[in-house]
Amino acid sequence: MTHKAVQKLVIVGGGTAGWISAAAFARLLGKSLTIELVESDAIGTVGVGEATIPQIIRLNTILGLDEHDFVRRTNGTFKLGIEFVDWGSKGTRYLHTFGDAGMSLAGAPFHQHWLRAAQAGHDKSLWHYSLHQLAADHAKFGKLDRVGNTAMTGLAYAYHFDASLYAAYLRAYSEKLGVKRTEGMVSAVMRDGESGDITKIILDGGREVSGDFFIDCTGFRGLLIGQELGVGYQDWSHWLPCNSAQAVPSERLETLVPYTRATAKDAGWQWRIPLQHRTGNGHVYCSDFISDDEAARVLLDGLDTPAIADPRPIRFTTGRREQFWSHNCAAIGLSSGFLEPLESTSIHLIQSHVSRLLQLFPGTGNAAAERDEYNRRCAAEFEQIRDFLILHYHQTARKDSEFWRYCRNMAVPDSLTHKLALFASTGRVGRDADDLFREASWVQVMLGQGVMPQGHDPMATGLTGQQSEEFLTNVRKLIERAVDGLPTHQEYLDAHCPAAI
Ligand code: FAD
Repeated sequence: MTHKAVQKLVIVGGGTAGWISAAAFARLLGKSLTIELVESDAIGTVGVGEATIPQIIRLNTILGLDEHDFVRRTNGTFKLGIEFVDWGSKGTRYLHTFGDAGMSLAGAPFHQHWLRAAQAGHDKSLWHYSLHQLAADHAKFGKLDRVGNTAMTGLAYAYHFDASLYAAYLRAYSEKLGVKRTEGMVSAVMRDGESGDITKIILDGGREVSGDFFIDCTGFRGLLIGQELGVGYQDWSHWLPCNSAQAVPSERLETLVPYTRATAKDAGWQWRIPLQHRTGNGHVYCSDFISDDEAARVLLDGLDTPAIADPRPIRFTTGRREQFWSHNCAAIGLSSGFLEPLESTSIHLIQSHVSRLLQLFPGTGNAAAERDEYNRRCAAEFEQIRDFLILHYHQTARKDSEFWRYCRNMAVPDSLTHKLALFASTGRVGRDADDLFREASWVQVMLGQGVMPQGHDPMATGLTGQQSEEFLTNVRKLIERAVDGLPTHQEYLDAHCPAAI
């Protein structure tokens, strides 16, 4: 059998996944591929997905976007991490920052020096030495590569943005690079009788769009990958039980803090995302433990500013596709699986799947080896993120509701049990080399959720007790000086990227 060269790419769906795919393919393969994106205004997009992680900066660099223009046109803000309120136990809070606390010394990471001091009676938390925490406490933001002349890294950041403005921004970008947009609802899918590959889609009214390769960005519907190609879905709700959300915008915060807030509730948690023109809010919950009406009430009661619309319900099942690429079709975005939004990882997964697909993109329809490699790597990535999310739910002292009792007592994957045991012993982190979350992330969430190691790394014992105290004091002084020199987040936005509307 001869295989046809891949010349025409069809992307079905025009949400964040569709337009990121279109933008990246147009930028990197636009000279050799014709790209057409089909979307239906009648169906619309999921309309959420407004908080990101620092890896998005890589995507922006690949696309050649001007950062300030991008933030301005999406009414965006900057994000230094996520504040978790009431997660480890009621009344506690911690910031999962995008950066390291302090700096490593004598072969041991900073948290090991801090652990050693804490185990000897030092009473300051790890976050006392975090540049990101101090900047967040003062609602400050600026570009800072490193702290003074030290080896201490500066501010790592991501963005919050308006999801609909983001899709519109990427659409304008993609169309400028020649992507053809077709409005219409897919009503049928045609396949090759021999290979089973998709050959064309039929739109309402009978219009046909044919292609050599298809990207399914149809959201939770999974129109091509699930409904047409029959690829199954692994349901992970026994580990990540939330299956519903209600989203509502509210007026903007008076002080624009540079972080997302995630507040644990009785049957889930509530997000707060600060934008320049409004605040994004949502309540993520498990419908086995709370009714939709009650969930909407909890959401509205928990708002910091007045609501400007009614809550909108969204249903989902946490899990992933059995295969991410089947025949001549790859699923990207919500069609490929969903890890709930606690750590803002979905847009990252879109970007990482797009870049992996670009790396393995077939020249012809014959791509079994590339497909296997793609599926293997996407599955591993989903599983690593899954374990990190489960940690937040399972490792808690909360017993005050049926939901939290379920989460505390549920069985978790062996891979996470191992990480918990290792950290509880000496504060070491058993992450895989390609894990999305860095050592600093695992350390902050383990400590924040209440895991205090019994010992520490012997490499942190090289300093005398007095040297160790001096080291900690110096780190604090250095970060205080660095934060003193930063503008407020609002000043930074006003100076460089005030909202377009
Ligand atoms: P959608 O936005 O649903 O787009 C689907 C597209 O397919 C639409 O254009 C639709 O018109 C089209 N379509 C569907 N069927 C057809 C058809 N038959 N014919 C033609 N077109 C069709 N991610 C983050 O990174 N950070 C977050 O903070 C975050 N928060 C979230 C909160 C919640 C409650 C949820 C549910 C998700 C969140 N996400 C978040 C995930 C994020 O919203 C999605 O990853 C992102 O929006 C991508 O969605 P999508 O493009 O895959 O699907």
